[in-house]
Amino acid sequence: NRRWVLVSRPHGKPACDNFRLETTSVAPPGEGQVLLRTVYLSLDPYMRGRMNDEPSYAPAVALGDTMVGGTVCRVVSSRHPQFREGEWVLAYTGWQTYALSDGEGLVKLGDSPAHPSWRLGVLGMPGFTAYMGLLDIGQPKQGETLVVAAATGPVGATVGQIGKIKGCRVVGVAGGEAKCRYAVEQLGFDACIDRHATDFSQQLADACPKGIDIYYENVGGKVFDAVLPLLNTSARIPVCGLVSGYNATQPPEGPDRLPLLMATLLKKRIRMQGFIIALDYGRHVDTFLREMTAWVQAGSIHYREDITDGLENAPEAFFNMLEGKNFGKVIIRVSDD
Ligand code: NDP
Repeated sequence: NRRWVLVSRPHGKPACDNFRLETTSVAPPGEGQVLLRTVYLSLDPYMRGRMNDEPSYAPAVALGDTMVGGTVCRVVSSRHPQFREGEWVLAYTGWQTYALSDGEGLVKLGDSPAHPSWRLGVLGMPGFTAYMGLLDIGQPKQGETLVVAAATGPVGATVGQIGKIKGCRVVGVAGGEAKCRYAVEQLGFDACIDRHATDFSQQLADACPKGIDIYYENVGGKVFDAVLPLLNTSARIPVCGLVSGYNATQPPEGPDRLPLLMATLLKKRIRMQGFIIALDYGRHVDTFLREMTAWVQAGSIHYREDITDGLENAPEAFFNMLEGKNFGKVIIRVSDD
């Protein structure tokens, strides 16, 4: 077995020396266990938080432990009555090539699923996050303006496309011209603004002539600063993620924006609500899967992956994602089918 363990905690940006690639032996499954081989590993922004030893909604990865993460695996051998050799499963076995499991939490995907890796993206945790955050908290209505950043990632791309299905004007924010073009031409967004543009705030305002009714918050920082003055009365803000700040070591420069935020929320009667998908919405997962599968099959929702081969490349792919160098859902192909 090869596995990436966390050996030190980053201050600011994570680096290669926070991890170590170890080789360990693979034990055969005991009674009631299955041995899993990782085929796909999902890399997600929340993993940055797991590297910190501070109170959060989920415990930190302990030093010396394998980095956590969602995986799609195949059963290599089984001494568990409910699993057979060769089956595909959705698991949470982390950054490693093999893992033993007692079956708890495994989701069966059958013998030959069409796109197994999609269960880590549009048909998995990020897709579910987009779906619940937008529909339950965002409450999109026909003709409203929806803004979403990280617009070509698995959450943002799905949010924007559901927004189109619900009849919204959808304005994305993404890093770079290629991503913006993709959001408009392939995902059907009405506009997408490059967050690196010097006149970004002005371009965003121009793209939202009727203001913003829903701001699906994925990034925080400068994007939120540009959004705040454009928010309409009764706007909704699902607070999903704040990726611009995940590597921050100190508060942002400039004046304290909290009083302006509070006054805006008050005067415009805005609803801003955080959520953690795994804690808040588990009971809706079947409804999500049914509806999202239908949308994907009908071609109403497109999905793009950014796949890197080899477990050894996981840290670099992870760092790149935090800086926006990914283009689509970040997946590591750990082994062949
Ligand atoms: P992405 O694949 O979209 O990757 C993150 C993206 O964030 C980058 O590609 C980049 O896109 C953008 N980004 C990075 N730095 C900055 C910055 N300084 N300013 C603005 N944008 C930046 O990730 P996901 O789709 O997986 O996740 C999106 C968000 O959803 C994250 O904040 C994540 O933490 C959150 N999330 C929350 C969950 C919950 O339960 N609340 C569950 C799952 C995800 P670009 O360069 O194109 O701007």
